[in-house]
Amino acid sequence: MSSPINLQHTIAGEASVSGVGVHSGKLATLTVRPAGENAGVVFVRTDVDGRDPRIPALVTQVTTTALGTNMSNAAGVSVATVEHFLAACAGLGVDNVVAELDGAELPILDGSSKPFVDLLGEAGRVPQSAPKRVLHILKPVEVRQGAKFARLSPGSGFTMTIAIDFATKAIGRQEFSFTMAPGAFARDIAWARTFGFASQARQLHAMRKGLGASMDNTVVIEGDAILNPGGLQTRDEFVRHKLLDVIGDLFLAGGLIEGLYEAEQPGHALNNQLLRAVFADAGAFAWT
Ligand SMILES: [Zn+2]
Repeated sequence: MSSPINLQHTIAGEASVSGVGVHSGKLATLTVRPAGENAGVVFVRTDVDGRDPRIPALVTQVTTTALGTNMSNAAGVSVATVEHFLAACAGLGVDNVVAELDGAELPILDGSSKPFVDLLGEAGRVPQSAPKRVLHILKPVEVRQGAKFARLSPGSGFTMTIAIDFATKAIGRQEFSFTMAPGAFARDIAWARTFGFASQARQLHAMRKGLGASMDNTVVIEGDAILNPGGLQTRDEFVRHKLLDVIGDLFLAGGLIEGLYEAEQPGHALNNQLLRAVFADAGAFAWT
């Protein structure tokens, strides 16, 4: 279905999906509903009483970035592991949606964005009247953490080029470049699953994290081997998943970006710092 690329979109109806959170291990149901123009993506916790349940998907609401992107509102109501759902919204061009959740963490499902792409597809994407909000990058902005960096520079369209580097031969050095275009996210990125190391599992469990992680939702690496019986979907599934995370994290700008994103070993913390650095410099960006 072709739809005007320069208009905001929402969804036509509602759709739901249920599953456990990768860190909490707790079952939750996510229900997506249509939202008005300029509403953006708004999470609504249906399981909190007497407190404001709404958490807009904006960089200013991000509270922690360890092991995922987590947000909360002024009332202290939080939502965890939002990045794979937000990547699906960004990748499909769904600007305005209410995302109701009856728990504190989004379901991890198969560890990729594919189930969220299917969810939004089931709800049906429809154009609205208002023009799409686009964040134009006017000058280079860069953040660094040792050998890691992330940079946004002026450019036409939205292109991301990233590299990851892991000692294990299961991953090694992988590079990937992706330009946002209709259909491209679902084809090249959405299905790439999250990954983790078997050696980290015990550490995570001690922190009460990773309780929902399994080979059904995580590519598990031990030494130089991949433990999942089905192996990888592609040799570079790892770097594609990192790009998926970047797309989700950058959608917290509040709209799509017009510019070039480049990064070495990006992560949720670095992406959050980068967006905050852009918004801290009035000469670095312009909304249209
Ligand atoms: Zn991820």
